[in-house]
Amino acid sequence: MDLGVSMLKPAANNPATTPELTDALKASVTEKRTQVLALLKAASSEFNAIAFANSYGAEDMVLTDIIAKEKLAIEIFSLDTGRLPAETYTLMSKVEKNYGTKPVVFFPKYDAVEEYVRTKGINAFYESIELRKACCFMRKVEPLKRALTGKKAWITGMRTEQATTRASLPTREFDDGNKIEKFNPLSDWTEQEIWAYIRMFDVPYNKLHDEFYPSIGCDPCTRPVAMGEDVRAGRWWWEDPNSKECGLHVKK
Ligand code: SF4
Repeated sequence: MDLGVSMLKPAANNPATTPELTDALKASVTEKRTQVLALLKAASSEFNAIAFANSYGAEDMVLTDIIAKEKLAIEIFSLDTGRLPAETYTLMSKVEKNYGTKPVVFFPKYDAVEEYVRTKGINAFYESIELRKACCFMRKVEPLKRALTGKKAWITGMRTEQATTRASLPTREFDDGNKIEKFNPLSDWTEQEIWAYIRMFDVPYNKLHDEFYPSIGCDPCTRPVAMGEDVRAGRWWWEDPNSKECGLHVKK
């Protein structure tokens, strides 16, 4: 199967990650930070068992920065699928040093991974949507369920403009799949505002973003996108855009 990865060689200096910090943009980001902080404070006082799922993407670094700097009572956890790019581990290490915290990381169950690889193959997720979803389930969905056990609410860095599957994204909703409340505080943020925040507050970020990776997941399932392409076009690029979710944020 030709996956076309070699067609899009990474190139540095992605202009999307270095927006011009105009007064209007800075004012918009400052106002939105205030709104997000208010939402997070209200959520953490309403729910005493609340967690933020940090995937170390640009949006999640904005939320990590706000939660850590404001010392909010919100647990931050991550999922390590075992197939993440090296740059993500570099960022995890930077976050440790920057905020003085050790990461809370959930891994897939080793016996499920061993069985999948033994019976389907090491990169079987390229072969069909079913095998891709089975891999995402074992490496992401099941560990997420463990991470959310006992939690009353969780927080994500999802934004409306990220994908056709996220066309309508409220800042607060009931997550029917996990049976807990879910908050999407950055729902109405633009990509430009995300990067303005990162630059204004000197937030650590994944260097792959500078190489035209707007959305970063597992290494074999992520590639750079062309200028003007949808931000999620580099994720599972061989599939129909309407089926491109890993199962973490699918509505039942
Ligand atoms: S993104 Fe790819 S490698 Fe990662 S869990 Fe899903 S199918 Fe597996």
